[in-house]
Amino acid sequence: MEQTFVMVKPDGVKRGLIGPIITRFEQKGFVLAAIQLRSIDRALAERHYGELKEKPFFGELVQYLTSGPVCAMIWQGEHAVENARSIIGKTNPVEAAPGTIRGDFALDIAGNIVHGSDSLASAEREIELFFGGAVAA
Ligand code: ATP
Repeated sequence: MEQTFVMVKPDGVKRGLIGPIITRFEQKGFVLAAIQLRSIDRALAERHYGELKEKPFFGELVQYLTSGPVCAMIWQGEHAVENARSIIGKTNPVEAAPGTIRGDFALDIAGNIVHGSDSLASAEREIELFFGGAVAA
């Protein structure tokens, strides 16, 4: 069964949104395979978002991700990567539809409260980075 990596970012944790976000994933039918509340250091944040290194907002992004604890999770289900992206909603909360997590809980792209892997390859890479590989659900 497919697995994907999801992370409640520091602003989501600070705002008490871990519970509502987990509820959305459970209601959708996903099964939680692993969960970890942790801080991430600069090196891990830079590796996680390595593809965005050249973007003008990269420094701000790393600063944001290291500003407090995150909640890292592995969710399992059919088409896990695509289904997770669909309930998370578009990257920019301004464009995210109501009913999606970002559409309902976030205002600004620089604080969009949650991350979900954008492909199977990214999911595998990110699960390895945060959990040392796939975990049985
Ligand atoms: P994520 O990887 O967090 O799930 P995404 O795949 O939807 O997001 P990406 O284009 O990979 O979108 O951007 C990664 C993250 O970088 C975004 O979630 C957001 O936090 C931040 N970001 C993207 N564009 C901007 C921007 N223009 N200004 C500030 N931050 C941005």
